[in-house]
Amino acid sequence: MQKIKMEMQKTKAFFWIESLINQCLLIFGFFSLHVMIFMNLLFATPPFAENHADRLTDLYKKQVFFNTNGQPQISVAISEHQFKVQVKIDQAVRVYLGGSSHDHLTIQLPTEWTVQIDESIHRESAKVEHCIILEQFSSDDQNQIPIKKEQWTQKLAKPLSLIEAGAIVGLSGKMLDTKTYALCQCGIKNEEQLKKEIEILEAQFDQRFESLVELLEPPKGDFLAIEKNSGLSIHAKDLIWFSPIMTENQAEKPIIWLTSTNQSSTNQSSSNQSSSKQSSKSITRAYEGDIYLTIGSDGLMTAVNEIDAETLLKGVVPTEIYTHSPQEVLKAQAIVARGHLMSKAGMRHRADPFLFCAEVHCQAYTGIEKRTPQTDLAVELTQGQILFDEDQKLVDSVYSSTCGGHTEDYHLMWGGLPQKALMGKKDQISSLDQSKVDQGLIDGDLSSLFENQQSFCSEPKHTYRWQEKLKGALLSKKLKKHNIGQVYGIEVIKRGRSGRAIDIKYHGTKGQHIVRGSYQNRLLLGQLKSGLWQLSAQYGKTLKSYEPQAKGLDFEAKEPTNWIFDGAGYGHGVGMCQHGALQMSKQNYKADQILSHYYTGSKIIKIW
Ligand SMILES: [Zn+2]
Ligand SMILES: [Zn+2]
Repeated sequence: MQKIKMEMQKTKAFFWIESLINQCLLIFGFFSLHVMIFMNLLFATPPFAENHADRLTDLYKKQVFFNTNGQPQISVAISEHQFKVQVKIDQAVRVYLGGSSHDHLTIQLPTEWTVQIDESIHRESAKVEHCIILEQFSSDDQNQIPIKKEQWTQKLAKPLSLIEAGAIVGLSGKMLDTKTYALCQCGIKNEEQLKKEIEILEAQFDQRFESLVELLEPPKGDFLAIEKNSGLSIHAKDLIWFSPIMTENQAEKPIIWLTSTNQSSTNQSSSNQSSSKQSSKSITRAYEGDIYLTIGSDGLMTAVNEIDAETLLKGVVPTEIYTHSPQEVLKAQAIVARGHLMSKAGMRHRADPFLFCAEVHCQAYTGIEKRTPQTDLAVELTQGQILFDEDQKLVDSVYSSTCGGHTEDYHLMWGGLPQKALMGKKDQISSLDQSKVDQGLIDGDLSSLFENQQSFCSEPKHTYRWQEKLKGALLSKKLKKHNIGQVYGIEVIKRGRSGRAIDIKYHGTKGQHIVRGSYQNRLLLGQLKSGLWQLSAQYGKTLKSYEPQAKGLDFEAKEPTNWIFDGAGYGHGVGMCQHGALQMSKQNYKADQILSHYYTGSKIIKIW
């Protein structure tokens, strides 16, 4: 109870308290008369009130706050690695200047700003440390933490940290528990060292380890903002926050336009600005809610959209599924996107001034651009609905494009304890009411799966079944740093319930190397659509099939011309299979039926 009370107090403090004192003339007396008429400049209590004297610190808090409507407020990075952006608003807006100052401007007319990093002021990237997650716990299993901590301390002979994320909040009489505890080995300075440390641990314990980044010191940097119509130029420390003012009888929500540089192809080399400029292209997108600009962990500008969860979902749903799909699958998609959002808030992007990115890593989001009346309606009809499992635990409702005929276990893909609602199963009518977990294809005989054409996701054909080739010499080259010579064997040593390859031992003429993780192996094998495939190899004109695999090794002792993967599905395969769900909705299944199929034993509960 104490915990819940504390959360609620913080929530209250977050609301924007409006007590405006008109002191503009004292501070901004140097403006021309033109500017004075154009703008109505005011001082105000900052948005986070007294308890939040430093807005910058708030941005790094890894928890969700709730607004006056009882809805979570979410921060999403809509543009990163920027040096300069433009912000345009067609109606009244407040512009808050600085992370710790209480200044703001109120602008009543359309306004357009160019904001850039102030290069005359020293700026710094964030100071971070990397942590390897040894084990993860929910509130239910937190009593195990002291024992596990003791065990791991003895095994590693190193000091360990316990990192907490999420919160326990009471909403509409329901408890939303997103608390996660990660037992970690921290203090790792850079990614190179992290890789080495993970390799050592994986070899020692014969399992895969994930990592996270912790913030030690936030980045520093100032901004120079110029208002286009008036020529007004202002300086802001750490942060500029644009918050449109909603008038009482306004039907449409205000929109902010953000123009930034699309760096999707060049963001790997963000430190090398001069070379990334040439291929960059400017992109303008529209957003509801607030936008703030601050320095990201890389020392460059990050633009963040702060918005209530329902409005965010209206932007997420149309980027994650075909917008012309039947209403029931759009509703299912809205519910799972909402659940995934609430499950992951706080655990991701721990060193960033936001909770989520707008990429597939979190959930794709492009502001209001792709919204349609149908997808908006799907979000509205399911407002506040998320999935809970048989034990009343929030389900991390992950989803992927196409399971290929069998979904995968959550814990086998990402570690942790098995989760009742997220065990892999066949994606077909015969498995609809099946609450028991089937043995699946963990033993590696995939032929029955590949012959099956009865799955909900058997359309479209190109994601259900596919073939990809990888040159033998290219795989050997990719593994060259491990000194195993020419690679002649790809042995799956751990499979998921669906038969997905998770851990693979690569056999070379000079030795062997193990790569753990389904995603890691997909990348290595030429960005395969999924980890579910049957292997064959081509030696000149001879073709040799290696399926069913895993029963002894009969690889030719030479590097093939090509490795050939006959694959099934697209994506990780855990949770809802989107193409399967789409077919289910076309066969008149309702959203709740679709969801109880993909998340076994789960129930939809409305929490706001
Ligand atoms: Zn992300
Ligand atoms: Zn499927």
